[in-house]
Amino acid sequence: MPIYEYICTRCACGFEELRSVSHMNAATCPECQGEGMRQLSVFASFSQDGMGESRAVAGGGGCCGGGGGCACSMSV
Ligand SMILES: [Zn+2]
Repeated sequence: MPIYEYICTRCACGFEELRSVSHMNAATCPECQGEGMRQLSVFASFSQDGMGESRAVAGGGGCCGGGGGCACSMSV
């Protein structure tokens, strides 16, 4: 199951939970049991898009972000 990130709508803390896709919009804050609002994260987009995004994620620290605009993308 993918990990989803949530922001609590009551205390505004952030937390992560393993959720099945059918339950990804529902999460309970571990701090105050408030309602968690799902956030889009790098990990979430990575797992949803599959291996096609792995190069972009791995090269995110380069000066061009792995987009191929400079030599840093060649060394990844
Ligand atoms: Zn909370």
